[in-house]
Amino acid sequence: MTPQRHAILFYLLHTSTHPTVDEIYKSLESRFPNMSVATVYNNLKVFISTGLVRELTYGDGASRFDADMSEHYHAICEQCDKIVDFEYPMLDDLETTATEKTDFVIKGHRMEVYGLCKDCASAMAVSK
Ligand SMILES: [Zn+2]
Ligand SMILES: [Zn+2]
Repeated sequence: MTPQRHAILFYLLHTSTHPTVDEIYKSLESRFPNMSVATVYNNLKVFISTGLVRELTYGDGASRFDADMSEHYHAICEQCDKIVDFEYPMLDDLETTATEKTDFVIKGHRMEVYGLCKDCASAMAVSK
C-alpha cells in the first residue's frame, strides 16, 4: 500500500462526516503535496472494489464516501449536507421479504431520511 493510499483509508476510518473526494483531498494535501484529486479518486475506486469503502450518491451532488461497512442508515441534513449514521435493525428482514414477494436476487438496499440536523434546526429557531 502506498503512503497516500494508507492515509486516505486511515482518514476515512477515523471520520464520521462521509467526506467528498475534495474534502479528503483538502485534508491530506498538506501531507502529500504531489497528490492530485484524481489520485484520491483512483484510490477510492480500489477501496470500493475491494469492499473497504462504500460510495454514496445523492442526486446531482458530489459522491460521499463511507468506510463504515456495517449495516446502517443515513440521516441527511438538507441545510448543511451533514450525514449522520444510525442503525435500524428492524429492516434486517426487508431483503428476505423482498425476495419472497418479487423472486429477485436481492443484493442490497439503501435508505436515507432527510431533514434538519440539530445545529441547523436550532439555528433556525434562533433566527425566527
Ligand atoms: Zn445541518
Ligand atoms: Zn455511514
